Amino acid sequence: MNLNDEWMRRDLASVWHPCTQMKDHETLPMVPIRRGKGAWLEDFEGKHYLDIVSSWWVNVFGHANPRINARIKSQLDELEHVILSGFTHQPVIELSERLERLAPAGLGHCFYADNGSSAIEVALKMSYHYWQNVGRPEKRRFLTITNGYHGETLGALSVGDVAIFTETYRSLLLDVIKVPAPDGFGLPRDQWIGQARVRFAEMEVALERHAHELSAVIVEPLIQCAGGMRMYPPEYLAWLREACDRHGVHLIFDEIAVGFGRTGTLFACEQAGITPDFLCLSKALTGGYLPLSVVLTTDAVYGAFYDDYETLRAFLHSHSYTGNPLACAAALATLDIFEQDDVIANNRGKAALMGELAAPLRAHPQVGDVRQTGMVVAIEMVRHKASLTPYDYRERRGLRVFRHAMSRGVMLRPLGNVIYWMPPYVVTPEELQLVAEVTQEGIDLATRG
Ligand SMILES: *Cc1c(COP(=O)(O)O)cnc(C)c1O
Repeated sequence: MNLNDEWMRRDLASVWHPCTQMKDHETLPMVPIRRGKGAWLEDFEGKHYLDIVSSWWVNVFGHANPRINARIKSQLDELEHVILSGFTHQPVIELSERLERLAPAGLGHCFYADNGSSAIEVALKMSYHYWQNVGRPEKRRFLTITNGYHGETLGALSVGDVAIFTETYRSLLLDVIKVPAPDGFGLPRDQWIGQARVRFAEMEVALERHAHELSAVIVEPLIQCAGGMRMYPPEYLAWLREACDRHGVHLIFDEIAVGFGRTGTLFACEQAGITPDFLCLSKALTGGYLPLSVVLTTDAVYGAFYDDYETLRAFLHSHSYTGNPLACAAALATLDIFEQDDVIANNRGKAALMGELAAPLRAHPQVGDVRQTGMVVAIEMVRHKASLTPYDYRERRGLRVFRHAMSRGVMLRPLGNVIYWMPPYVVTPEELQLVAEVTQEGIDLATRG
């Protein structure tokens, strides 16, 4: 028995994997990873895989990055963890100062949690609690756009709209108002804004009708990632900011997946030139090393909780590992790399190359849409190109692409019929070339018959 098989056998006896039908592994090999270096992962038989999905969108500067490793190691010898209520530490202070400097103006207060879903819970609870603290308890509902994803805990699921994740739990979820997403699926880029404008009219109507009972609007800015990398233009976000201000409703940006350079700017909200009331960050925050999330918010929100103890206005939310020093150290090292290597500027060339490499796929008879925003390219396979009719999910076409890509040493992991490239920023032009070839082959194979 080879080593991969041996680890897989032991794994299946005791590990229950996330987001997985475990029975699939009767026929689908599990891939035990022994180590990683840069954009590559290596299994126990010495086979290498290019991590083109950034290990679920978290990794930006490669595996075993020497600079991040060194920072974590030196922090480890100082302080691994301490309670963050009544106590503090250097990495969390420095990280908060830096995030405040980097985020759009006005977001001066950082509240930490240890994963993306928890950051969403924090933002929802803070917004809701804010309205109680200012004497408007009737403002208790949330509004979002369809096809969004904000995580798996019940509050985060409630404001999400990807059916495979939410439907089973429907009766447990909050009653959230949803309006149609503004994405430009199937349209050339120059028509995205027109589509967004049409959709925004529906957002306006919903805001008008519900403002009196609304706490906040929550969206994933520019790219709805788990919803199949659907994309929309920044103008929608600017209109949304103006409308939320006019109607007295908070605006929550979930930049958990798109923050830290994915969309071409450090934060997606920069492209709209606006500041949300809550900015949720996680995933690439620590370079993909350690679990950490943060919600940045305004003086106005912070101030509504700041009062004498007896008023019971404090935000009493906490998690055991809130603001963990090792995770904060990884985040500081990650921000150093962004700064020292001028990453956002250097990514422009890579993003342009990704666009060039993906362009020929537009002509494929079973490809309905090829879209890009910054360092994310998505290619959507369809049954009928003209009508954009999707393949039935039961055909598992994406899985066929996955199998082929893995055989070629590329870890492409489609979302249903959507193949996407979301590489760590250390990816090279040659590696992108390989990904493009393997994608073309994979689509040819997966759409045959
Ligand atoms: C991944 C993700 C989350 C949830 O983060 P977890 O750390 O997996 O809980 C929330 N929102 C978006 C947009 C995400 O992509």
